[in-house]
Amino acid sequence: MNATHDPKLKSWVKSANDPACDFPIQNLPFGIFRRKSGKERPRGGVAIGDQILDLAAVGLNTGPTLNVLAAAGRPAWKALRTLLSDVLSNPKHRKQISKHLVPMKQAELFLPVAIGDYSDFFTGIYHAQNAGRLFRPDNPLLPNYHWVPIGYHGRASSIVVSGTPVIRPSGQTRGQASAPDAAPSFGASKRLDFELELGFVIGPGNALGKPVPISKAHDQIFGALLFNDWSARDIQGWEYQPLGPFLGKSFASTVSPWIVTMEALEPFRCAAFPRSGDQPAPLPYLFDKSDQKSGNFDIQLEAHLRTRKLPRAHCLARSNFRHAYWTPAQIVTHQASNGCNMRPGDLLGSGTISGPTPDALGSMLELTQGGKNPVALPNGETRAFLEDGDEVILRGRCAREGYAWIGFGEAAGRVKPAWLR
Ligand code: MN
Repeated sequence: MNATHDPKLKSWVKSANDPACDFPIQNLPFGIFRRKSGKERPRGGVAIGDQILDLAAVGLNTGPTLNVLAAAGRPAWKALRTLLSDVLSNPKHRKQISKHLVPMKQAELFLPVAIGDYSDFFTGIYHAQNAGRLFRPDNPLLPNYHWVPIGYHGRASSIVVSGTPVIRPSGQTRGQASAPDAAPSFGASKRLDFELELGFVIGPGNALGKPVPISKAHDQIFGALLFNDWSARDIQGWEYQPLGPFLGKSFASTVSPWIVTMEALEPFRCAAFPRSGDQPAPLPYLFDKSDQKSGNFDIQLEAHLRTRKLPRAHCLARSNFRHAYWTPAQIVTHQASNGCNMRPGDLLGSGTISGPTPDALGSMLELTQGGKNPVALPNGETRAFLEDGDEVILRGRCAREGYAWIGFGEAAGRVKPAWLR
């Protein structure tokens, strides 16, 4: 850690010093923005309090994505963070720099990177147990879970930024046993769900054929954002064997607009998930002493629900990224271990991160035990799965005694009715 993490550091942008703010000067997350209803081109900015500083203020013209910045690598990210921390804290820069501030309220935010490839993992062990139990009550975790970070390749084309509506997918679902022929049918999903996840944005990437050693994996991660991997459980349940998730997942995923850098997350490192005596140590290619000691991150994750009749968001789940069984470095190393190349801006999803308690379940599937026990909302409504007009809002924050509190903003999406019914 360095001077940019000093909790005493204040910005001359006053709103950044409000303890309730997600974006104090110790955070400095990157995004792509432009003024609403303007003809401006989308460009890179850094969030500070309730403002966005155009990166052009420090001579950086990113263009409409942050892929080039992601590709630049850790020394460049570090130098930029040091520079931004200085110009936004030292009052002598105020006059020159404040011309480049845009109030967040007046800004439109875009996908921060062009995502070439996206994979989703299954690192939330409580989610894996809860989901597994619904299918295999006696044997919720398959034996490979403890050895290999389970994942699948997703679609990058349908990843959208927070605020983009999510259209209920239609698809083929299993026939009802009660129906005369019990044949599958095609129609709007009746079991639409969310997944509370974190996504990791890849930095420089690796050459085809060249794996990423675990000791170098952290340098491959530019930063993290909130990730809602919307899921249609009825489509997924019928299609997923034997090749895994497909159209039940690929209709949309929502990301938060701000990439919180791994450097900003340094104070919130914690030990890898503690393995019990009957769980094997990771194989050597996934084992690194310092990764085991401090390769995981203490990040509070929340999922909230707003409905047409309940405008005040209701908290469905409070979890923590600590419940990931595999560290971010381990999933990066595993992804590249066969020689598959990752490119700047690629996205790796953590998988749903649920906690061990009933208030920490990161999907409706778990909150309602597969739809059997609907959630009661404060206004008397109930939900087994998501209905049209429902809005899911993910939030994330890091807090630790002796350090500034930093936040992720939000990843929100409202469900719109299906095209095909
Ligand atoms: Mn997922």
